[in-house]
Amino acid sequence: MRVGKLSVAVDGPAGSGKSTIAKILAKKYHLTYVDTGAMYRAVALKMLRNDISADDTERIQQMLDKTKVKVLFDQIYLDDEEVSALIRTPQVTNFVSIISQNPEIRKYMTNTQKEIGKTENVIMDGRDIGSVILPHADLKVYLTASPEVRAKRRFEEMQEKEGENLSLTLEDILETIQKRDFQDKTRKEAPLTVADEAVIIDSSGLTIQEVVENISVLLDKILDAKG
Ligand code: C5P
Repeated sequence: MRVGKLSVAVDGPAGSGKSTIAKILAKKYHLTYVDTGAMYRAVALKMLRNDISADDTERIQQMLDKTKVKVLFDQIYLDDEEVSALIRTPQVTNFVSIISQNPEIRKYMTNTQKEIGKTENVIMDGRDIGSVILPHADLKVYLTASPEVRAKRRFEEMQEKEGENLSLTLEDILETIQKRDFQDKTRKEAPLTVADEAVIIDSSGLTIQEVVENISVLLDKILDAKG
């Protein structure tokens, strides 16, 4: 289906299925998919590589002035280097929720992401999309699931990728998820929250296909109304 100007915001905690679902919807409705979490991860990776701490405002600003983060569907580029796999390591995962609290980094991301939203038909997923990046989105979805279900999904995903090399246990992943939830929900700047007008979908007992169908019903209605 080809659409006119359309913007969709998908927010929610880690492991709620945001990116899987947003990617399917992007293909179905011909929207540009922007994984904003991946953009934060790319900056976290650069900071780890350059040994920049999360509170070193001066070095962070200098780094951001010389940083280019680009997302092309599920490929992420940091200063023209493809880092799609490198941004998914446990080190980056643990560090990213700390650096995403930094106001300079949020300003950089907000400007970049708002710019993409202005020019393209988008589906963006993250934590502050409906509240900050696309406050006038045609549809805002807050996707959630219980921490146990989210940890189990992540664990199975990682098991599939890494097989016997996986050193993390289900308990480790649950702990990381709960820690990130806490950090993302309680930070001062743009915390993870249910945006005004957002439709809340709890995917704990739903399949990916069922979530996609629920959101498609909402999107089809919006598109019909747009004519
Ligand atoms: O979506 P993902 O789990 O890859 O996001 C990694 C981290 O980036 C989140 O835990 C959060 O701290 C941060 N983030 C954010 N705002 C967004 C997207 C991600 O603060 N819009």
